[in-house]
Amino acid sequence: MIAHFDVDAFYASVAVRDDPSLSGKPVAVAGSSRRAVVLTASYEARPFGVRSAMPLYKARAACPQLVVVRPDMAKYKQVSREIFAILERRGHAVEGLSMDEAFVDFAGAAPAAAVALAAELRGEILAATGLTVSAGVASGKMIAKIASDSCKPNGLLAIAPGEEAQFLAPLPVGRLWGVGPKTQRRLLAYGIGTIGEVAALDDARLHELFGSWGNDVRELARGIDRRSVESERETKSISTEETFEYDVTDERALIDVLRQHARELAEKLTAENLSAATVGVKIKRADFTLVGRQTHLEEPTRDARHIFRAAVYCLRRARLEGAAVRLLGTRVASLVAGEPLQGSLF
Ligand SMILES: [Mg+2]
Repeated sequence: MIAHFDVDAFYASVAVRDDPSLSGKPVAVAGSSRRAVVLTASYEARPFGVRSAMPLYKARAACPQLVVVRPDMAKYKQVSREIFAILERRGHAVEGLSMDEAFVDFAGAAPAAAVALAAELRGEILAATGLTVSAGVASGKMIAKIASDSCKPNGLLAIAPGEEAQFLAPLPVGRLWGVGPKTQRRLLAYGIGTIGEVAALDDARLHELFGSWGNDVRELARGIDRRSVESERETKSISTEETFEYDVTDERALIDVLRQHARELAEKLTAENLSAATVGVKIKRADFTLVGRQTHLEEPTRDARHIFRAAVYCLRRARLEGAAVRLLGTRVASLVAGEPLQGSLF
């Protein structure tokens, strides 16, 4: 499960937080030049038609009582750091999209647990910064983001696995990632206005309308979204391997090597303050054919025993059946910062 978090009217909310006399008033954050545009409008300003990116003079015309506040970038950066520290605290992968918006990967969490986590994080951010954050929770990034956009301000909306297509179907096709206003107009000319109508297209029509991109668009429209949360962390995996002096056929000898590898990887994870949710093995047979197997853990770990057990599981799944092995490697991936959660593994 993936969550998308987005602070409500970020700049304006910070301004109101720090000057309670603005509370309940239509507020716009904007620069002071003649050509200044609205950077953020408070929810009280939005019914007047005041929007981000609107020229300030137009916003003032639309809403004469508008209170205009100058931006304070240093302050926003400070608040942003506090928010990201909270999102990262439990060791999940976090992909920032802007100062006040991020995806968090609740890898391995059941849907109900993911929703509970998202609610907790919203509460922690509110307590620490005084700002409300809306969150969407879903099996994929796009739906999580659409969900959080749909429940603003101060909302939490979860789309249960299996209900993605149903949630998307009535939405305008322009909400799909990659479908801009131009494509949207073109599709409308063909009578396609909703995401559900894209989901229902047959192969021939799909290709005619979208070309080689068609299958991806239709999958997205059906709620299938495989894009993963890309945290900024450089290290994507850590591995170690052993090339044997003599080909090894004894499984017990291979298992001994995996035990060594697991200890070594656990040490490296600890040294870098990381935990891993994926463990894999790589095996090169004496005939130089390669086989790889990997498994995902329910929760990230840095415990050598857990890595070892998962590696043995992978080795057995490779079904060597006595084949001579020239090289054996172990790898941990799906790395997240911090200590693993306490709880049951496997
Ligand atoms: Mg925002």
